[in-house]
Amino acid sequence: MTVGVLVEISNKSVDKIFDYNVPSSLESKIQVGVRVSVPFGKMILEGFVLEIKDSADRELKDILDVVDDDIVLNDELIELGKEIKRRTLSPLISCYQVMLPKALKAKSGRDISIKYESVYSLNTIDCNVSFNSTQKQIIDLIKEKGKVSRRELVNISLSSLQTLIKKNILIEEKVEQYRLHYNTSLLEKKKLTVEQSEVVNSVIASSPNCFLLYGVTGSGKTEVYMEIIDYYLSLGKSSILLVPEISLTPQMIERFQRRFGDRIAALHSGLSDGEKYDEWRRIARGEVSIVIGARSAVFAPLKDIGIIILDEEHSDSYKQSDANPRYHARDIALLRAKSHNCSVLLGSATPSLESMARAEKGVYKLLRLPNRVNGKNLPKVIIVDMNEAFKKTKGHFSNDLLESIRGCLLRGEQSILLLNRRGYASFVTCKNCGFTFKCPNCDITLTYHKSSNTLRCHYCGYGEKGYNECPKCHEKGLNNLGIGTQKIEEELKKYIPEARILRMDYDTTSKKGMHLKMIESFKNHEYDILLGTQMVAKGLDFANVTLVGVINADTSLNIPDFRSGENTFSLLSQVAGRSGRSEKEGIVIIQTFNPDHYAISYVQKHDYLSFYRQEMDIRRRLKYPPYYYLCCIKISGKDSNFIYQEALKIKRSLERNLDSVIILGPSNALVFKVNQIYRYQIILKYKKEDELYPIFSKIMEHYQINRNIKIDIDFNPLQVL
Ligand code: ADP
Ligand code: ZN
Repeated sequence: MTVGVLVEISNKSVDKIFDYNVPSSLESKIQVGVRVSVPFGKMILEGFVLEIKDSADRELKDILDVVDDDIVLNDELIELGKEIKRRTLSPLISCYQVMLPKALKAKSGRDISIKYESVYSLNTIDCNVSFNSTQKQIIDLIKEKGKVSRRELVNISLSSLQTLIKKNILIEEKVEQYRLHYNTSLLEKKKLTVEQSEVVNSVIASSPNCFLLYGVTGSGKTEVYMEIIDYYLSLGKSSILLVPEISLTPQMIERFQRRFGDRIAALHSGLSDGEKYDEWRRIARGEVSIVIGARSAVFAPLKDIGIIILDEEHSDSYKQSDANPRYHARDIALLRAKSHNCSVLLGSATPSLESMARAEKGVYKLLRLPNRVNGKNLPKVIIVDMNEAFKKTKGHFSNDLLESIRGCLLRGEQSILLLNRRGYASFVTCKNCGFTFKCPNCDITLTYHKSSNTLRCHYCGYGEKGYNECPKCHEKGLNNLGIGTQKIEEELKKYIPEARILRMDYDTTSKKGMHLKMIESFKNHEYDILLGTQMVAKGLDFANVTLVGVINADTSLNIPDFRSGENTFSLLSQVAGRSGRSEKEGIVIIQTFNPDHYAISYVQKHDYLSFYRQEMDIRRRLKYPPYYYLCCIKISGKDSNFIYQEALKIKRSLERNLDSVIILGPSNALVFKVNQIYRYQIILKYKKEDELYPIFSKIMEHYQINRNIKIDIDFNPLQVL
């Protein structure tokens, strides 16, 4: 027997399958999809068995060992990996590694192991032996239950167990134990409203299909997901629910546990590697039917999937941008849906332009929940013009916002304050009039480069000299924007010393369990104000919150990216949706230097569809998605001059080979130099991707063995910075 093995080696030039001989002693353990260890040059590596051939070939080296008893990649996932490679041009091995928990990746730390616990059962009892009272207690318990685990034998010492084992009265076995424990089903469920039921019925009636559920914040989308999942459960089918990491709060998991008990597995970054490994095994063994998780949970090895749901489908956390393969969970969901002949449901209060455009064309089926569940209105949104407010105050708080916070406090109600730090970049703005510098060709904000004192466009390379004063109002105070939550907290304490402020950001939630603790204590009204970054914007459901304040709406508006309007609109709509979710009416105060910007005025009107139309119009004129696809080729290396010349060559060869494609650059990447590595980028706007693959493959091949240059290709990048 010989096998084709894909080995894990972090060298891009060996992305292929190597053949090995299987010694007869190991033949019985070989399956497609198990890991094996193999000799490779002077090294010993791990890899995945992807092919089995009957023929023997004595010339080949032997595999050394089979790592797993069970397969780690099933046939569906093996095929899926090949398709991901085709679409993203990533090394095949990376397409499999991304699907697996750390413990199952090829050549990973063996320190993540399966946890075992002792389970005791009775051997035949010799009646002549006399027992002391503790021993009797143990034996009676085991007689009653059959088998008893160590955990169940509370207050019983190990030594009394060992004595019984020595006397051959007890048998000890080691059995696998999962680190997490779920409550068994409590089946709590709500009666759906008519609108919710209609959505559920449409999904069931027109499956398999891809649906876009456009439902305002608080319209009861999560409840709809649960009902649909329940339906598939009754057919014996499984479901995947993806949520952005940030909204995968313990609150959310608990809500699912209350309804589905231990039939769920949850995959998120709050778990240890061991816990993730356990959850993965429960899934692979078919012990659960529902997987809730962040992006990579889209690869959960469930069988017979009925539906894959992406909540907050517009969220950029669904795209893996920082490593190969640069995939989008939505695309993977659609691919898996094809193999399983099942449905995909995309849900959002602010659908991505791509998805809405597809729904308009009839590619996706559009479903709507236009109203909040309890008939409540969406909160009133007040825009505060900071150009005016700054004439009266010095800090980051307008009087309007401070007065509203104080009012909230007096009524015993709570507020949420958002410090918008999305995609924080060093753009320059005028303190006085809010003016920002824009590229004349691309309509995106220029970023400031201190070292060369220039303002640059990262799309087309346009540049101009840095200014000392504002070209519009001649103010000298030009600012690089950047404020932290801590600074805001201190400022707020000065204004309202009696308020109890809870700060939630990356720093204060990094310790395990802190996130849940904070949410619980805010819910219990131990604090009056929840102040935080994007973390406070999504998924939270507090009945007593009647004020949402946005300190700085502009940060995300000004980042040099064509999606900044869309991202700002969706962030502000999301955070606005946290206010007045229950009995009490809520308001929202948005502080901004751009009160007339369309993204902000449509948030005020809760008018997604008009925003969508206007934004689509801009995208059409500037040839951005969803009218054109984008692709970003990143060219990096130590020798800036050399890679720039190579980038030019790449651009020319693209121009020779592609007719209908718009090619921009090479320009400096936003972070131009990282660890002595320089980065350039070429941006392509195109209509059909199939004509790109052959030329891209050639380019990748050409540079594969050159250690001085690295090429990364990102299709549909979330940001082009
Ligand atoms: P969304 O996900 O659209 O923001 P949720 O599903 O979180 O909305 O629902 C908002 C609130 O309304 C939650 O507190 C939820 O428990 C409640 N809710 C949803 N559907 C119903 C229903 N049919 N009956 C009563 N309450 C509901
Ligand atoms: Zn430009």
